[in-house]
This record gives sequence, structure tokens and C-alpha cells, in this order.
Amino acid sequence: MDQIRIEKLQVYAHHGVFPEEAKLGQRFTVSAVLCTDIRRPGLSDDLANTIDYGAVCREIVSFMTENRFQLIEACCEQLAERLLLTWPDVLNQVDLEIQKPWAPIGLPLETAAVRISRGWHDAYLALGSNMGDRQAFLQGAVDHFREDPRTRVQSVSTFIETASYGYTDQAPFLNGVMRVRTTLSPDELLDRCHEEEQAADRVRKIHWGPRTLDLDILFYDDEIIGTERLVVPHPDMAARDFVLKPMAEIAPWKVHPVTGKTMARMLRDLEEAGNAAE
Ligand code: ATP
Ligand code: CA
Ligand code: CA
Repeated sequence: MDQIRIEKLQVYAHHGVFPEEAKLGQRFTVSAVLCTDIRRPGLSDDLANTIDYGAVCREIVSFMTENRFQLIEACCEQLAERLLLTWPDVLNQVDLEIQKPWAPIGLPLETAAVRISRGWHDAYLALGSNMGDRQAFLQGAVDHFREDPRTRVQSVSTFIETASYGYTDQAPFLNGVMRVRTTLSPDELLDRCHEEEQAADRVRKIHWGPRTLDLDILFYDDEIIGTERLVVPHPDMAARDFVLKPMAEIAPWKVHPVTGKTMARMLRDLEEAGNAAE
């Protein structure tokens, strides 16, 4: 990916664990690699099409002088988030380094520094409801994600009605999927989903039983994750037409990183297997 680089911007600020650091302040230097597509501004020669690095420098200075952190880790993390949220459409990733050349450790060092890389991620979420006002629960979740600057909703499928799955003695579901661009990590995104389910007053009683809102992470970039609390891509997708149909509607070209098949192809395979079984 193309880059715009800012090297060693000097900022006088008051971060640090020691009281003298908070009181007297010291010099920090900030370097940033902004990953963005240069093609458009490159051909148009128009500032409106790019990330104005002057504006980025001013944002860095105001962030570092208006806030006070004990750790440069915290300063770096939250500054990266600020930059990603301020330029959400053009800044895909930022590699950020904060140096503290005057770190008061009583030894002659050139600098102490923290360097991180943070970016926007591409996730797909499945939504389901089979209790109460199902449409309102699904739409509510979409709206709340839209209002959260960390989850930018890119597209939402049609909501479709499906007979219940697994535990079948219950009301039919309304299901859909949405694509979000997010700064959240996979674990944070799962927490965000749980928060949303709780806000919808979901009561967990029976596994696969009735619920006001169920939000599952289907994909997170092309990552393959298998931990105690999170499995991504969501398992069992290949057997669920209520996931594959809406996925094939909004992202038929999306390739499953494990099966190597597109959503359109996985849906066709499921439908053919169903027809063969009948
Ligand atoms: P299924 O995941 O088969 O659709 P479910 O949605 O009914 O079943 P829940 O009771 O909602 O299951 O979730 C149980 C746990 O599954 C969650 O607490 C979460 O930790 C875990 N989990 C694992 N992978 C995922 C994922 N990709 N998305 C959401 N939850 C997941
Ligand atoms: Ca589910
Ligand atoms: Ca779930």
C-alpha cells in the first residue's frame, strides 16, 4: 500500500509517570507512516483527494498537548485511534512511533520509544432474532453500529425469514448480515456484539433457543481464529442458508479463507446438496 510519511515531528508535552515529568514537560518526537491510496491524488493533483499531512501534524500536536498520559504506550494507542477515526475513509493503517529522548532514567540513552501499527479491518456480522419485534431488534443493532465511530457500516443485507435451526420448537427467525469497517480487534468486536445483545435484553436460556438478538462474527479480514471464546470464520456457515443467502446478496465475491470458495459458490453448493437430499 502507498504511504505518506511524517518523520520526527517534535512536540513538547507532559506525559510520564513521575511528577516532575507532568510538571515540567519534555520533548517527544512522533513519526507516522500513513497507509493510503495515492493513485487518486497522484493523478488529480488535488489536496481534497488526499490526507493533508499538515492537518495530521496539527492533530498530533493538539492530541499530545491536550491530553496527559503516564505511558507513551497509552499515548501512542489512543493517538493512532484518533488518527484512524479522523480520516476514516482514506487512512487504512497507521504505523506510529513516539520517542521520548529525555526519558528520566538517569542513564545516557539516545531515546526510548514505542511503535505500533493500527488499522481499519473488514468484518461481516450475522444478525438474528426470533422474539418480540424482530425487525426492530435487527434494525436497532444496525443503527447502533452506525452511530459508533469505531464500526462503520458498509452494507446491510435484506432481512429474511427462516424456520428455526437446531432447537426447532420455536418461532421463525429474521436473519441478515452486515459488513462493517472497524478499528476494534476481534475480541473487542465480540464484546461489542455481546453488549448489543444485552442492550436488546437477550436472555440466554437454551442454546440455539429463542432470543431477541443474536450477533455472530462471520469474518474478520481473512483471519483464522480459534480461541476458547472466538472461532472465526464462524463454523457451520456452509450449512446455513440464512447466513449464505444474505452474504451472497451483499458480497457474492467474498472468498471464505478456509474453503477457498466464494459466498455465491457456497450457497449454490448448499442448495444443490439440499436438492439432492430431497
Ligand atoms: P452459533 O454460534 O452456533 O450460531 P449461538 O449463536 O446460538 O450458536 P451463543 O449462545 O450466541 O451461540 O454464543 C455462545 C458463545 O459462542 C459466545 O459467548 C462466544 O464466546 C462464542 N463464539 C465463538 N465464536 C463466535 C463467533 N464467531 N461469533 C460470535 N460468538 C462466537
Ligand atoms: Ca448464532
Ligand atoms: Ca451467537
